[in-house]
Amino acid sequence: MSTPTQKHTKARTRRGRAHLAFKKIKLTFCPQCKNSILPHRVCPYCGNYRSKKIINIKLPKKAKPKKEKK
Ligand SMILES: [Zn+2]
Repeated sequence: MSTPTQKHTKARTRRGRAHLAFKKIKLTFCPQCKNSILPHRVCPYCGNYRSKKIINIKLPKKAKPKKEKK
């Protein structure tokens, strides 16, 4: 492997690294449940994709009020 003949300047190194920053995540809204979701993915809240049910998502059971005995 060859070795670099010239040293990169600080400016050249930093100019290249200017593109390495993380980009902000782009979010869209689910048309079914209105939650913010990642685009082109099944909604993790309701399991819909393009208004079609793709996967069944089990929601955590709500605490049922105890039946009173008569
Ligand atoms: Zn949804």
